[in-house]
Amino acid sequence: MQTEIVKITDQNKEEVLNRAADIIKNGDLVVFPTETVYGLGASVFDEKALSKIFIAKGRPSDNPLIVHISDKNQLKDLVKNITESQQKLMDKFWPGPLTIIFDKKENISDIVSGGLSTIAIRMPSNIFARELINLAGVPIAAPSANISGRPSGTTGEDIYKELDGKVDMIIEAGESKIGVESTVVKINEESVLILRPGAVTKEMLEETLHLPVIFAKEKNDLQSSPGTRYKHYAPKANLELVSKEEIFNKAESFKKEGLKIGIITTIQNNNSFKEYEPNVFILGDENNLEEISQKLYSALRFFDDKNVDIILCQNFKEEGIGVAIMDRLGRASAKKS
Ligand code: AMP
Ligand code: MG
Repeated sequence: MQTEIVKITDQNKEEVLNRAADIIKNGDLVVFPTETVYGLGASVFDEKALSKIFIAKGRPSDNPLIVHISDKNQLKDLVKNITESQQKLMDKFWPGPLTIIFDKKENISDIVSGGLSTIAIRMPSNIFARELINLAGVPIAAPSANISGRPSGTTGEDIYKELDGKVDMIIEAGESKIGVESTVVKINEESVLILRPGAVTKEMLEETLHLPVIFAKEKNDLQSSPGTRYKHYAPKANLELVSKEEIFNKAESFKKEGLKIGIITTIQNNNSFKEYEPNVFILGDENNLEEISQKLYSALRFFDDKNVDIILCQNFKEEGIGVAIMDRLGRASAKKS
């Protein structure tokens, strides 16, 4: 398959999005930008097209997809009912980086839900994404645009390197704004379970719903979100997390052993690692966690062609979006798959 990568601009957006919508209507695959990470999309109502997503990514079939909508009216074709709490979250956070789990309608394919009776839905704030869904005339099921287990794609160019020949079109719109995937929540009337942390934080959810908010990890409840079980987000070389105080000494001792080291750190530590250049990636300011999250996957991909033996990355504060950053780094550095 020939993969076309096209840079979208205000001038060509109509033509590009119309062409992309035709590809979706035709049952094929389009990689499109969202504010979190890029999505690899197909029509939610086309089983053949949905299976192509799993083939392109090498994704296990029990890992369900997130369905992207552009209008709340589309929910009536997807979900059985909407609870008061779900409504409040939609009103507050959509469009935006929050995925909500609903009971799915019977007509929704098991390919979308990984065999579960529920469906994950979000309305992206990225304007190109919403316009594409409008033009396609159907909700678009889309996991992150990457080979399964690898860091999610946050630029069209990174994705082209990885998915060339596997998708029909890639819409390049520059770096994703947030850089980590959406927060995924499951709600019952007494509590909220965060299945995957993201830019919508525990505190924001508490403030909106006035219900206890629990990380699924703490409750050991991740069976209900299959995708979170797998080793994920992993760069080619092994990744090790170290505190910012220890990272320099750790690097020195690995260097003495003759290992080639990659370093992921912040401007605060920049001067300590001159000797390790060019194998150093500066994520940004350690006090600006939004900047860190935006660059995170580019940093992990940066070392793919550098032939390093090990990547050392410093830990970040687990507050706000820092919880999501540390969640992804934890999985990316996990030893077993
Ligand atoms: P990705 O699209 O690659 O960001 O992965 C989608 C994420 O959403 C995975 O972590 C899935 O486990 C989660 N997900 C999708 N559908 C459901 C669902 N019905 N219930 C729970 N988690 C879901
Ligand atoms: Mg993914």
